[in-house]
Amino acid sequence: MPRMQPSSVSLRAALTALPVYVPGRTVPGALKLASNESSAPLLPQVQAAVAAAVAQGNRYPDNGVVALRELLAGRFGVTADQIAVGCGSVALCQQIIQAVADAGDEVLYPWRSFEVYPILTGICGATSVQVPLRPDQSIDLDALADAVTERTKVIFLCTPNNPTGTAVGAAELDRFLDRVPPSVLVVVDEAYVEYNDAPDRLSAQALLQRSNVLLLRTFSKAYGLAGVRVGYAVAADVAVARAVRHTGVPFAVSQPAQAAALASLEPDVEAELLARAGEVVVERGRVHAELCRLGYPVVASRANFVWLPLVSSTVAWAEACENAGVIVRAFADAGARVTVSTADDNTRFLEAAAVTRTSAGL
Ligand code: PMP
Repeated sequence: MPRMQPSSVSLRAALTALPVYVPGRTVPGALKLASNESSAPLLPQVQAAVAAAVAQGNRYPDNGVVALRELLAGRFGVTADQIAVGCGSVALCQQIIQAVADAGDEVLYPWRSFEVYPILTGICGATSVQVPLRPDQSIDLDALADAVTERTKVIFLCTPNNPTGTAVGAAELDRFLDRVPPSVLVVVDEAYVEYNDAPDRLSAQALLQRSNVLLLRTFSKAYGLAGVRVGYAVAADVAVARAVRHTGVPFAVSQPAQAAALASLEPDVEAELLARAGEVVVERGRVHAELCRLGYPVVASRANFVWLPLVSSTVAWAEACENAGVIVRAFADAGARVTVSTADDNTRFLEAAAVTRTSAGL
């Protein structure tokens, strides 16, 4: 083994101050409920589309992602020019910040929310402004609007929110958007939208009437393609979508990813995927009710996970769950997020939760 030389390469000082993204852990033999993935493998039609695309892997992918953008545009009643596709919607989060924020500009978002927002903001050299959630863990839209300054370039509004699961309603979002200057981009991150069964869900069509709104969606959750990597943005303003495509790395969306997304939107395939999402919603109700019965604090969720605000007991409880064979996602001193999976997986988790209750200080 060659001896490692100490490096004198000068790295950006800003990086040392930034947290590193921590993915959900995979432990052999344990049930992983830490990453809000679908537990089902790809449907055969999707696998076939991926395999055919892989066979052409000697060629670069379609850099314009034209077929997928056109299909998505038709669904949203917009033009393909208003769509940007990325290597997962997380890549689009970075592209969005790079498209709007210079050093020192502000990126505003509720906190706690998706943990990559602060990381990507810092990597881009912008400044995070975090607005605390309300005590009931819902997003405080009034406080968010109050926090807008002339340096604010973009607001990330994750709804249903990761990791708390709460969703904002259409009317309150409308009132919020009325208060946001049109020069500030509002990103509505809807990674979990397919699980939101609230009566006051947002309307994409209505939101896209506002020139400063961008919707962010992913194939990673309800469409079950987390490992394939494809997400997309729909911008009301063509110039915004163009800027987001501009900041993307060329060829970031592989041809297998494009093929998988297209195959997932075939009516029969999509119907099956959305039916699975519906089953998760039903199971979420059971998991929620059973956790309440066991005495856990649980926030009502509109996503494919539940949030237990266990504050100082969070890490001990997550460790106890791991010892019981279930990996949950712990956010130290805040809470634990647990993915809702198949009925069997959820039952296994609930059995673990029954025995780990004391570790949660309950
Ligand atoms: N937004 C939110 C709120 C998420 O929770 C996630 C995944 N954890 C993403 C975006 C990114 O998903 P992907 O990059 O897999 O599309």
